[in-house]
Amino acid sequence: MPLRNIRQNNDPVLRQKAVYVSKFTPQLRLLLEDMAETMLAAEGVGLAAPQVGIAKRIIVVKVEEGVLEIVNPEITSAEGKDIDVEGCLSLPGVFGEVPRYDRVTVSGRDRNGKKIELTAEGFLSRVLQHEIDHLDGVLFVDRASRLLSPEELQKM
Ligand code: ZN
Repeated sequence: MPLRNIRQNNDPVLRQKAVYVSKFTPQLRLLLEDMAETMLAAEGVGLAAPQVGIAKRIIVVKVEEGVLEIVNPEITSAEGKDIDVEGCLSLPGVFGEVPRYDRVTVSGRDRNGKKIELTAEGFLSRVLQHEIDHLDGVLFVDRASRLLSPEELQKM
């Protein structure tokens, strides 16, 4: 399975509003597999389809058990507040403190079109919110309360 090219910085696809997936085809499954492989090869913890140049509502997230795939993900409930440092495979070398909900429930579809729902807290909740933002053309720097300085980056 081929690795996909990760779009970076000012690539316009990163700012597009992605469209819903209506057909659960073998092509979709190939895309999901390529996205997972691309994410793992880049040592990322999540990847959204626009980051590989495809403006569709699809995300993959690294979890303990493997790779979580969500098609047409929606946050259906959110609570609590948390602030932590984020980066993005599409914005190399940039890190910032981003306020997020501490706990979210996300619903969507799996690769076969079957309904799925999960509730996540802490880090996984943060990754889900970051990836779902990508589907609306939102990058973490848009939400960051501040970006880390070069001195802070050196310490990381
Ligand atoms: Zn990102």
